[in-house]
Amino acid sequence: MKTRANNKIVAVIICMSILLTIFSATGYALLYGNHECNGVHCTVCEHLNNLANATKALGDGVGFFLAILFITAIFQKGLPKFIGENLSVVSLISLKVRMNN
Ligand SMILES: [Zn+2]
Repeated sequence: MKTRANNKIVAVIICMSILLTIFSATGYALLYGNHECNGVHCTVCEHLNNLANATKALGDGVGFFLAILFITAIFQKGLPKFIGENLSVVSLISLKVRMNN
């Protein structure tokens, strides 16, 4: 029970950090998108590039996670149909077989 609560806390922290990253990158881009660029080594442009790369990597990671989740869901739904009805869920416990003799 405590592990489930810890998993929820970790999931909330990860979601909040992803949202904070996305919102802060968007806010920075909105605030400094039209800055007066002073040339080659512009600090604002470097920050904007770093934020764009971080946001892209984050989007790739979330997309990869969702793809894996989708593939897993397809396998879990489609695997019994692919194997057929031969996949048995009958066990000794469900048949109430005593194993203590
Ligand atoms: Zn610039």
